[in-house]
Amino acid sequence: MFSEKMMELGKKRSVIREIFEYGNLRRSQIGAENVFDFSLGNPSIPAPDVVNDVMVDLIKNKPSVALHGYTSAQGDAGVRKAIADNINERFCADAKPELIYMTCGAAASLTITLNALLNVGDEVVLLAPFFPEYRVFVEKAGGVVKTVKCREEDFQIDFLALEEVITKKTKAIIINSPNNPSGAVLNRETITLLAELLNKKADEFGTDIYVLADEPYRELVYNDLEVPYIPNFYDNTVVCYSFSKSLSLPGERIGYIYVSSKAKNYGDLYAAVCGAGRALGFVCAPSLLQYTVKEVLGKTADISVYEKNRNLLYNALTSYGYTAVRPDGAFYLFIKSPEADANAFCERAKKYELLLVPGDDFGYEGYVRISYCVSTEMIEKALPEFEKLINEYK
Ligand code: PLP
Repeated sequence: MFSEKMMELGKKRSVIREIFEYGNLRRSQIGAENVFDFSLGNPSIPAPDVVNDVMVDLIKNKPSVALHGYTSAQGDAGVRKAIADNINERFCADAKPELIYMTCGAAASLTITLNALLNVGDEVVLLAPFFPEYRVFVEKAGGVVKTVKCREEDFQIDFLALEEVITKKTKAIIINSPNNPSGAVLNRETITLLAELLNKKADEFGTDIYVLADEPYRELVYNDLEVPYIPNFYDNTVVCYSFSKSLSLPGERIGYIYVSSKAKNYGDLYAAVCGAGRALGFVCAPSLLQYTVKEVLGKTADISVYEKNRNLLYNALTSYGYTAVRPDGAFYLFIKSPEADANAFCERAKKYELLLVPGDDFGYEGYVRISYCVSTEMIEKALPEFEKLINEYK
């Protein structure tokens, strides 16, 4: 017999994938231009030209054996130094190359870090709404998920509710700002209060509580809003970063883990990260991509399109009568379902060829995620359908 748990995971596609597959079917039946697919978080804008230029240059000029060979398990030393320097320049932090671990994107960063931190039965707090794969990663690492809902009025942390779920078994909390699916950005005041609460609780229980800062959307933020760098506010932090969204490189699988140099026992923690990477087979992240990101640190794809899409979608949908908190970052709009059952609403939306994702798997029932990393033209064409859909409820 195989692993029951793994078979179950493999057979049951995520809801998002399920909707995307339905979209493929509809595209083949009625033509791609007639399907309004808002299901996936796949960046719609190209990687900046400099990424391709650097890759071509590396392929032409870097000796092939070095370019395509194994790097150190934790990543090339020069690449890790460049990343540490970049973190320090941007955030006045104290990052050290020997605390950086190169990964295949944020998913790998998270799963390695969770395996490094958790012993069986340790609890991990997820702030709903949250990226559904967190649950899979935590449980596979032996952890127990505890969820807390963010405030409906602004998707900031509900501190009273959070305080209630923290116990002496709490090992970690995952913070994802800008957030998938709400688009909320946790502000400086919230991060300060979070740090105070975690320190207070860790003192009270005589434990250590770690923050996993899942930051694939860090650069996708509008109106020059600040995204506080959590290691500057809370010592026991591990940053799980990815270049998937900022550089529009999700298929290339490249990111990193940064263990804060202020974390307690950071040396042992980093050793556990290396051990988890080894045990999971996540060593030597793709070398071509490591060398590429080293040359383009600080650059992003042209994210102005997302801001334009956000404004268009948010303004139109709220004018039709939908309720939503205006997202400050990422590329998702999280609307309140006009009927209690968001699944039923998303089914009804299919009548208008609108493919939307119910919030249930994000731990937030009664809400629906709309990914606006799509062409502006598609949004313009879809708007009348959104209006017809809400009018059914009037
Ligand atoms: N974390 C969040 C919140 C995400 O939305 C995603 C992808 O959509 C990931 C992690 C995984 O990112 P990556 O493609 O870099 O593995």
